[in-house]
Amino acid sequence: MRDSRCAIGVDLGGQSVKLALVDGQGVIRRRRQESIDATKSAEQLCGVMLDQIRLLRLDARSENLAPSAVGIIMPGYMDRQRTRLIFAANLPTLSGSNLLADLRAGLDLPVTFDADSNGAAFGEYCYGAGQGVDRLTVVAVGTGIGAGVVADGQIVRVRHHIGGSLGHIIVDPRGLKCACGARGCVETVASGRALERQALEAAGSEPHSRLAALLNQRGSLTGKEVAEALAQGDSAACRVVRQCGWWLGVALASWAVVHAPRKVLIGGGIAQLGLPFIQAIHDGLQEVGQPALVKDTTVEPAGLGPDAGVVGAAGLAMAGL
Ligand SMILES: [Zn+2]
Repeated sequence: MRDSRCAIGVDLGGQSVKLALVDGQGVIRRRRQESIDATKSAEQLCGVMLDQIRLLRLDARSENLAPSAVGIIMPGYMDRQRTRLIFAANLPTLSGSNLLADLRAGLDLPVTFDADSNGAAFGEYCYGAGQGVDRLTVVAVGTGIGAGVVADGQIVRVRHHIGGSLGHIIVDPRGLKCACGARGCVETVASGRALERQALEAAGSEPHSRLAALLNQRGSLTGKEVAEALAQGDSAACRVVRQCGWWLGVALASWAVVHAPRKVLIGGGIAQLGLPFIQAIHDGLQEVGQPALVKDTTVEPAGLGPDAGVVGAAGLAMAGL
C-alpha cells in the first residue's frame, strides 16, 4: 500500500537551515533554505525557523499535501527528554536556550528533535543506501567526524542521544592533542580539518605536485582542491586522501567491536573525495580490524548525499521517534 503520509524535515546547521517537505516514500516534494546568522539570539533563530516552516506548509498546500509532523535535527546535545538544548555546536546562542520548547509552542503539529547524525542515519536506513541493513553505521566526515547507528531499525542512543562519538575514538595515543581534550582522536588525522593540514604539509614537501601548484594559485587548500588534484592523478593528493581514509578505517575497527556494523556508509562534505577515500577506509578497517568481525563489513558512499539530514528528520517525525 502506498504510504500517503508526509512530514517536514528541518536540518539546522551553523550557516543555514534546510527544510524539506518529504512524502512517505522519502521523496522531497518541496524544499527551502535560509541562511543563518550564528550571532543572532535563540529567539531570533527560532523566529527564522518558524517562518520557514510556515512558508513550507503553504507550499505543501499547493501540492495538496498536509504534513502531519515536523522533525528537526541539529548538531549538539539535548537533555534526556529532548526538551532542552545543553550544547549546540556552531550555534553558541542556542546552548542552554529554550529553543526546543519555543519551537513546540509555535507549531500546532507534533515536533520531534534529534541529533543531526541520527537524522542522517535514519534517512539512509529508511530511504537511502542502508535500507534493510540490520546493523548500520552512517558516518559524516566534515570539519569533524560524527556517526549515527541504527540497529534492527532502532536508533542507538548511548549518551547525548547518539550511539557514540566516532570522531573521538583514539587511534594514536602519542599523536596530536584533540579539541576535546583527549590525545590522538581520529578527528586529528582523518577529518576535513586534518585533511587540509596534511595537504598543506604534502604541498610543502612536494613542491612539484599539483597540490603545491593549487596552493600557489589559490592561497589555501580545502577538500575541493584536494579532490581536484586527486582527480588529476596527483600522487601527493592520493597519499593524503589514502592516509586520512586509512585512519578512519582504523577507528572503525575499534567501533566495530562495539557496534559490529554490517554496513558503513560514508557521507558529509569530504565524501566529494569519492571512491579512493572509501577504498582507503575499507583497507584500514580490513587491515587492522578483528577478521571475524569485519570481514563481511562493507564500506560504501552514503546514498542521499546532503539531503540525508532533512529526509531523515522527516522520517523521524513520521515515525514519531
Ligand atoms: Zn577528541
